[in-house]
Amino acid sequence: MIEAEGKFVIPGLIDAHVHIVHRLNDAHLTGEEVLPMFLAAGVTAIRDTGDTVVPQKMIARFAEAHAVSCPRVFMCSPLIDGVTPIHRDIGWSLTDPQAVPAFVEDMAKWGVTTLKIYAGTGRDVGRRVIEEGHKHDLMVTAHLGPYRAQDAVADGIDCLEHIWSVFNYIIPADTKRIPGHRASLDLTNPLAQSLIKDMAERRVMVDPTLAVFRNMILLNDLESVHQHPDNAHAPARLRQQWDIYRQRISLKPDTLELRRGEFLKYQELTAMLYRAGVPILAGTDAPEPYVPPGFSLLQELEMLVEAGLPPSAALQAATINNAAALKQESQLGSIEPGKLADLVILSADPTTDIRNVRRIEKVIRGGCISEPAQMLKLVPLE
Ligand SMILES: [Zn+2]
Repeated sequence: MIEAEGKFVIPGLIDAHVHIVHRLNDAHLTGEEVLPMFLAAGVTAIRDTGDTVVPQKMIARFAEAHAVSCPRVFMCSPLIDGVTPIHRDIGWSLTDPQAVPAFVEDMAKWGVTTLKIYAGTGRDVGRRVIEEGHKHDLMVTAHLGPYRAQDAVADGIDCLEHIWSVFNYIIPADTKRIPGHRASLDLTNPLAQSLIKDMAERRVMVDPTLAVFRNMILLNDLESVHQHPDNAHAPARLRQQWDIYRQRISLKPDTLELRRGEFLKYQELTAMLYRAGVPILAGTDAPEPYVPPGFSLLQELEMLVEAGLPPSAALQAATINNAAALKQESQLGSIEPGKLADLVILSADPTTDIRNVRRIEKVIRGGCISEPAQMLKLVPLE
């Protein structure tokens, strides 16, 4: 029995875009070390979107055995990529369509929920991954490169990762040479109209991952990003890696306004997709630089609302929509009798102000009750 009079109860949040192996490697961290950060932020389940399978499986097993300190972990294939995978640590070269069935069968046996097509994959392999994935009842998502969005949608893709997978497709070829073209792109152009219409009709989900794009575009300039108080919850090893990344990239101050404009376009496109009836997911790409596990989902919700989604729609993205992306909507994502007890108790109403989602009193994962401060003590300082 939990006393929650005068409190607000929401379904446990789900982060639809996480890597529990990638990036942590560089920081000499293993995924389970950061899992309590998710619970501390009210995130009771995470959807991996591309990692090597063996360490992922071990982390998922650890999470299952430690429900009191870890979210549910749903696994993904490595990044299905071209001849030379873009990410050598978590990429998987798959260039022969005939090799796809055995690969997908193998992934199904490992228990993945999601297959992820990556930026080096073309249409011949991509289409086959979708076909084979669906035979095994797996969700197929993509960070698109040469495989065009309209083709992937026609081929039956379930989901697109990153707003870029949509945005890059709708840039007309003759516009690409104009400096700053992203910041001034006409989002109502014919390419956009026909793609958005098809995506809405086919209910193709989009996981915009605004937090990581804000960071890539604006990181060096904005203290509000690299000095965000949420970052302090991450182990020092991880924060040091983020700082190294920030020192390597060089964003010129005189392009700041254009870059801000570009980010606004990503938010504007997200809102257009939402209004057109495209199911929006909430994912972060944690633990990419300055995308702190768990807490970045709270930032993502703020950015979705800033983009124009009502707070309740942002919450639905992070709960029932994300549950659907995992084929878990009969178990997770809403508060109903018969579903698993993944809940967050808040002291203020998040539907009137999305920032109230930070006012977490208790997090319940599979009936296990925890408090944020308790969870953060489990995260290594170093
Ligand atoms: Zn990612």
